[in-house]
Amino acid sequence: MISVCVNGYGTIGKRVADALGRHPEIKLVGVSKFTPDADARIASSKGIRIFVPKENHDAFVKFGIQPAGDTEEMIDVSEIIIDASPDKKGIKNKEEIYVPKGKRAIFQGGEKENVAEVSFNARSNFNAAKNKNYVRVVSCNTTGLCRIIKPMLENRDDLERISVSLIRRGSDPNDSKGSALNSVEWESNSHHAHDVQTVLGSLPITTTAFKAPQTLMHVHSISMRFKDAAPSKQDVENIYAKESRVALLRTASSTADIIEKARDLGFSRNDIFLVNLHSNTIVSDKNELSMAITVPQESIVTPEDVDAAVSMSGLMNQENSMELTNKIMGLGNIKSKLEAAFG
Ligand code: NAD
Repeated sequence: MISVCVNGYGTIGKRVADALGRHPEIKLVGVSKFTPDADARIASSKGIRIFVPKENHDAFVKFGIQPAGDTEEMIDVSEIIIDASPDKKGIKNKEEIYVPKGKRAIFQGGEKENVAEVSFNARSNFNAAKNKNYVRVVSCNTTGLCRIIKPMLENRDDLERISVSLIRRGSDPNDSKGSALNSVEWESNSHHAHDVQTVLGSLPITTTAFKAPQTLMHVHSISMRFKDAAPSKQDVENIYAKESRVALLRTASSTADIIEKARDLGFSRNDIFLVNLHSNTIVSDKNELSMAITVPQESIVTPEDVDAAVSMSGLMNQENSMELTNKIMGLGNIKSKLEAAFG
């Protein structure tokens, strides 16, 4: 049993806290909240212990929430901190709190790779986090790409080049900030290619990122070139059918359609956690393969954070950890229901 807390209770933090709370080998110490607000009320109503900065204690009490203690205390009694603070704040937390207190921590993809000793994706490099003090779970886009590229590398050793065009969501559904309303912005040689390499090592990959005014999911168009004939559509389906964190969707045709089915199927918060591989986009021609994936940005890293904590503490091996995380989060159920809906 390990004690874990979540520092930063936003889009990622709230999902990770829910998952940790269901893990039989992890004790969720609690979460940190800066502001007394509706999110704090909901967390409190779920029985999650809320820790707050000392100076905000009275404001929480006035708001009707009795804090379990102050944030420093939460960190003191936790073995591992999952830092889900906004981009570039994790590194400050590391320098100002975790290192002085000698605490181990997991960071998110908004931090630079040098925040941690290793960048992590459970399917790709689970063992690399073992016994490490600082681990970075890579971003939602990189997680999606790793879950697709790693199985292909295991099946084919003649992959010569990968190029990816990412259509990124402009903001999360809960954000009032975000991309320009009537414009698509782009960035060639985006950081995503290097980010994939931080997990999978040197790999011939290039990425171009487009930011579009929508909130539902990221969409990636992936091209792979092989030395020999590219895998057929059937080969590709066979490779990914075995992947527990990939949903093979045959008939989906828009991100709106997928989210609507997530609502209809009653998934909590519409969360899918899986990367969706769209079988109706697979084209195999001579030595080239192209396909599209969709990445549910708010939820996809949640199981990765749980597995990172398990790997760091050496509680279980890769297979057992991923299987247990999938089970407590109901990923098998989500995968089968979504695949049946879009069969
Ligand atoms: P968010 O803004 O939704 O939540 C961040 C939370 O941290 C807020 O509740 C905020 O009040 C709190 N906070 C502010 N300063 C803090 C500090 N110094 N210490 C602790 N908490 C603090 O952000 P998010 O979308 O959950 O992103 C968190 C991290 O996860 C970022 O690194 C981001 O890049 C990464 N990430 C985000 C997504 C996504 O789509 N939202 C996907 C994958 C990874």
